[in-house]
This record gives sequence, structure tokens and C-alpha cells, in this order.
Amino acid sequence: MSDPARLLRRQAYVDGRWIDADGGGTIEVTNPATGEVLATVPDMGAVETRRAVAAAEAAMKPWAARTAGERARILRRWFGLMMSEQDALGRLLTREQGKSLTEAKGEIAYAASFIEWFAEEGKRTYGEVIPSHDASKRLVTLRQPVGVVGAITPWNFPAAMITRKVGPALAAGCAVVLKPASQTPLSALALAVLAEEAGLPPGLFNVVTGSASAIGGELTSNETVRKISFTGSTEIGRLLMQQSSQTIKKMSLELGGNAPFLVFDDADVDAAVAGAVASKYRNAGQTCVCTNRFYVQAAVHDEFVAKLTKATEALKVGNGLDDGVQIGPLIDEKAVKKVEEHVADALSKGATLLTGGERHKLGRTFFQPTVLSGVTQDMQMCREETFGPVSGVVRFETEEEGIALANDTIFGLAGYFYARDLSRVWRVAEALETGMIGINTGLISTEVAPFGGIKQSGLGREGSSHGIEDYLEIKYLCMGL
Ligand code: ADP
Repeated sequence: MSDPARLLRRQAYVDGRWIDADGGGTIEVTNPATGEVLATVPDMGAVETRRAVAAAEAAMKPWAARTAGERARILRRWFGLMMSEQDALGRLLTREQGKSLTEAKGEIAYAASFIEWFAEEGKRTYGEVIPSHDASKRLVTLRQPVGVVGAITPWNFPAAMITRKVGPALAAGCAVVLKPASQTPLSALALAVLAEEAGLPPGLFNVVTGSASAIGGELTSNETVRKISFTGSTEIGRLLMQQSSQTIKKMSLELGGNAPFLVFDDADVDAAVAGAVASKYRNAGQTCVCTNRFYVQAAVHDEFVAKLTKATEALKVGNGLDDGVQIGPLIDEKAVKKVEEHVADALSKGATLLTGGERHKLGRTFFQPTVLSGVTQDMQMCREETFGPVSGVVRFETEEEGIALANDTIFGLAGYFYARDLSRVWRVAEALETGMIGINTGLISTEVAPFGGIKQSGLGREGSSHGIEDYLEIKYLCMGL
């Protein structure tokens, strides 16, 4: 039971069985810090996905018929196993994804927290008795599981993006077919090992690895799948929504961000710098709520930029498994190319490089933590997510101008600002067009609060008491007396 080697699986998990792809094809999973091949996993497609959906459908009925308390007991065991294997799961996550071991273990605790939270929330999916419009009728609502869920998750949080979909889905009485990101399927499979050990019945949590377009195509077109829950880019979110339109599926989409971070002239600048470092460089800048654009008011601009540059230069880059490392490699070569392109674009349009700006001497996909000042709104790094350890600072004069610059984007996931004047805090909080706002803090994520975006950053909320809503339908009963 406690041998951590059991957590490294090379097969997919469907209907409670560990299986290969029909044709025997595989894909390699590599460590971005070293290039080492960690394992291969099955290269599956539409046929295997269809089988997984059928297994999920069959498993769901008896699961939904159990009491929420019975479901909760199994989920609680799963949570407990994740926490007792936190170190092994964290190491596996660092090896396939690159983030520091401290962050990886933090992610495991964060991931597990969604299982614990929704085990509890599942017991509170109350219906209602509505005061009737007619003396001879009684009106009641039930809340029932939405049905089989197709979940598609990204590589930047290989564990947490799974549990915050699977936790509420299972707690609500749904079954899930998951396609994890091809770069990081090993954490997903390790979670399945622990779900099995926790006593989760076969067919409720299926992990299908392989072709994104083939698996995604089946999940979105299959009539049995009633809901798609996706975290990833806005571009793929649009595609999945389009593909799902034929069968009118419910959608939860957690898409790209372009998070602004504003520092006003009444801010505590040292606190703002600490918050900036936390929100910008976490996971080497590869989270959808990472700050993407800094806007700093003129009076505090120079001080903020000087202190941010110093803090950035102090960051330790290296293999996430090594002691004290804060910034690991980027996920792949494509990611580095995008970062390089954004830096080159900014420099060509007149930005000033204060530190970094190039690939790190460690080679591979390591990139130097970077600060640029003199950034302007027309530069690529203000228009789209850089997803790397690059801070670009824009200077602004008035509060209105800062807010307008922050809102000048199609995205609306997270935003951050530092200010101390209470009236300003309320004004800015109400004016920023994002689903989440960090005020005098750079870290906002927790299982107890609603995570999600507005505008083209997505639909629905994950975590909190709202997070289970996405997996429930309301059924209205009108009873004649
Ligand atoms: P990122 O840029 O973060 O990799 P993507 O949106 O490309 O974001 O990928 C997020 C997830 O979506 C991954 O699991 C990926 O495999 C999956 N994906 C990519 N293309 C498709 C597609 N055509 N259909 C379904 N899933 C897809």
C-alpha cells in the first residue's frame, strides 16, 4: 500500500481497469528540467473514450442513488490518501511539470482540499419548497446530478485542476471521463490509483490519455456526456464550446487570463513588491492568474520598479527538486519561444530591459526572471498571456487611466491592486472587469472561494459553495393536491 512506486502508472484507467490503447500506441512523458523520459502512457482516441463514457454512464446511476454521506466517506478517504502521499505525489508532479517541490507539495494539498471541501458540500445540495401560487398545488425543487462529465485539464496544475472538477462532480453524484494534458498525465493517473484505494467504485473516475483532438472530439459530440468542464486556453475553449453546441452541453470554462496588477500612489510599495513577486513568478509565471501586466502610478513608479528588479534578481532558478529553487523550467520549447517573442516585441517597441531577458545558462527551457520598464499597451505582453517569468511595467498618471488600461482586454480572470485609501479600494474593486481581485495581496486561490472569470476568460465558478452548482440541475415538481 505505501510503496510510492505504485503511483507511477503507464496505463490509462477506464472502468476500474488499467488498460493500454487499442492499437498499443504510446506517448512519452518527459521531465522538462532534464529531458529524461519518465514513462510512456497510452495514446488513446475516440474508441477508448466512447467506452469510458459508457462505463461512466453505467456507474453513475447507483452512485447517484447513494446518500451524499456515503459518497462523502469515500471522498474523505481519497483526500486522506492524497495527504499521506503528499511527498510522493509532489515529487512526481515536479518531475513531469517542472515547478519547485515546495510549490508541487503545496499544489497537492490544494488539490486534496477540493476533495475534502466537496465531500462536505455534497451534503448541502438542498432543494426548496416554494410558497405556491395556487392553494391546490405544492411546488418543490430537487437538485440532481447533471450526468456524465467530460473533463479536460491543462499541464500547469496537473493535480489541482483535476480535483476541482472531479471533487464536485463525484460529490454531486456524477461520473467523470478525464483527459489530462499530454505533458502531465502521470499525476492524473496517480490520483486514480488513490481513488481506487479509497474505494471509489469502477467507472466513476476514468482517465483517458492520448490525442487531445480525438478524445475532445468524442467527449464533445457524445450524447451521453451532459457537461464539459475545461481549463485551458481561450482558443481551445471556443473550439470545445462550438463542438458541444450540437448536443447542447452545459459548459464550465476556465480560460486564459491577462491579469493586471495596479500599484496606486497611496500603496505600501514594499508590500506591493512582495505581492508582485508572489503573483508573477509562481510556477515560473505559468498560471492563468499570474500577473501579466503591471501598471504603476507615476509617484511610486521608480521606487516600485527598482525594488521589483532587485527582488527578481534574487530568485533562484533550477531543477525544482533541488533545495531552495524558486523558478523551474518552462513546460516546453514552444513556451520559451513565446516568452522570447514577447520580450523581443517589447524591446523593439521601446521598452527598457532592467534584468534578465534571455534563456538561462542552465539551457533547456529555463528562462531568466526578467523585468522591463517603459512597457506600453500596444506591446504583445499587454495583449496576451506571456506565461513566463517576465514582468513588464507600464507607467500611468491618474486612477481613471489605470483602470481603463487594466480593462482594455478581452480577458477578465484575475486582477490585483495595491492601495490604502478606502474609497479608492472600493472604487477600483467595483470598476475592474475581472472575476477575482486580490487587494493588497498577490495570492487569492483557495478551495473556499469562487474561482472563475468574466468576459472571454470563461463560464462558471470552481471551488466554494458555488462550485458544486455547475454539476447540478434543478428539477421543478408541481404537485396537485
Ligand atoms: P495550453 O496552452 O495551456 O496547453 P490548451 O488549451 O492548448 O492550453 O490545452 C489545455 C488542454 O486542452 C490540454 O489537456 C490539451 O491537451 C487540451 N486540448 C488541446 N486541443 C484540444 C482539442 N482540440 N480538443 C480537446 N482538447 C484539447
